[in-house]
Amino acid sequence: MGRAFVYVILGGGVAAGYAALEFTRRGVSHGELCIISEESVVPYERPALSKGFLLPEGIEVVLGTWVKSADVKRKTLLTATGETISYKFLIIATGARALKLEEFGLNGSDAGNVCYLRDLADATRLVDVMQSCIGGNAVVIGGGYIGMECAASLVINKLNVTMVFPEAHTMARLFTPKIASYYEDYYIAKGVKFIKGTVMSSFDMDSDGKVTAVNLKDGSWLPADMVVVGIGIRPNTALFEGQLTMEKGGIKVNGQMQASDSSVYAVGDVAAFPVKLFGETRRLEHVDSARKSARHAVAAIMDLEKTNEFDYLPFFYSRVFTLSWQFYGDNAGEVVHFGDFSGNTFGAYWVNRGNLVGSFLEGGSKEQYEAISKVTRLRPAIEDLGELEKLGLGYALAE
Ligand code: FAD
Repeated sequence: MGRAFVYVILGGGVAAGYAALEFTRRGVSHGELCIISEESVVPYERPALSKGFLLPEGIEVVLGTWVKSADVKRKTLLTATGETISYKFLIIATGARALKLEEFGLNGSDAGNVCYLRDLADATRLVDVMQSCIGGNAVVIGGGYIGMECAASLVINKLNVTMVFPEAHTMARLFTPKIASYYEDYYIAKGVKFIKGTVMSSFDMDSDGKVTAVNLKDGSWLPADMVVVGIGIRPNTALFEGQLTMEKGGIKVNGQMQASDSSVYAVGDVAAFPVKLFGETRRLEHVDSARKSARHAVAAIMDLEKTNEFDYLPFFYSRVFTLSWQFYGDNAGEVVHFGDFSGNTFGAYWVNRGNLVGSFLEGGSKEQYEAISKVTRLRPAIEDLGELEKLGLGYALAE
């Protein structure tokens, strides 16, 4: 059993969706393009995707289908249902999976009230569990994006929330201690408790297999009606290990998003691509990079000679409660904070080897965010950090 396509997109997440849209925008003929996804729903950003799918070109959408192996030399994928799908060009958009407690030598991921959050099925389950625990205790394991965003949702839904993580502050990979303390104070005022510098060691379970408490390494104990685990992700590269070159835990691609096999492209969370601005290969775990890398790969495939190197300015953002921040560039080097940390608008610049390389802003307007994005891309030389601090946001606005 088998089918052949010119273009195959493996994965059904954000990057896959944007790649499909770009193909339809550029024009593919009926039966040329196929998306294969394990998930039973079309890629998420539905407002955009439904437009793609309404176009007459006809994308073959193979949902609820796990691809169990890939043969890069033969240009084929084998599905769990036994079908062989062959391609001329493959876009790998397999994203990443949530790391499980078991990968850290712990147990309990299967408990009825332990939740992860990566896909729609996880989100639906998390909401169901949360609704059965209103007024109860939730323990959030992990102080990154997922932990922070879930803690906000849980507290809004009237659960008592405690966050536990090993680092000294939240969002340790991005925030400075000063930035983190602003968000932590805000969360504390909303009722969230923080336990830092320790990790969970085990769960107490009842006879139904539900967690009743979380034991911590520091010897303390937290009653729990539900647990949310957000301890990082791992790119889904397994199908291609030994067949494609890997770097930074992802599939290494060039400035056209092309992997070490010239028929294969990788986009989104699974791709390690050259970030021109920093002169090094990075793997980013953010939605903007998923969208843009996907578009770039399709442009490169359909326009082989003409497409420029992907020139991407890393961009992350988050919105929780009434807060909203954006970050551009790289958080390397020395930090200069600016603005009113007791008010609503503040930020930071990162200056590495004499150049401004990163900017963070909370509570900015559209124009202000555009200004920090623009100035970060320019990488201006900074001679006087004190002057930069004094000018603050004004520096970006004046550039
Ligand atoms: P994914 O969206 O993970 O898609 C991967 C797809 O591949 C899935 O459909 C999966 O089922 C499929 N797949 C994998 N392996 C196989 C296989 N073998 N066979 C078939 N199908 C397969 N980023 C931000 O910048 N800002 C945010 O505020 C933000 N919030 C987030 C909130 C949540 C809850 C989550 C989970 C992520 C958030 N992100 C955010 C990150 C962002 O969503 C990801 O960077 C983005 O989804 C990456 O897109 P992707 O297409 O590479 O991977």
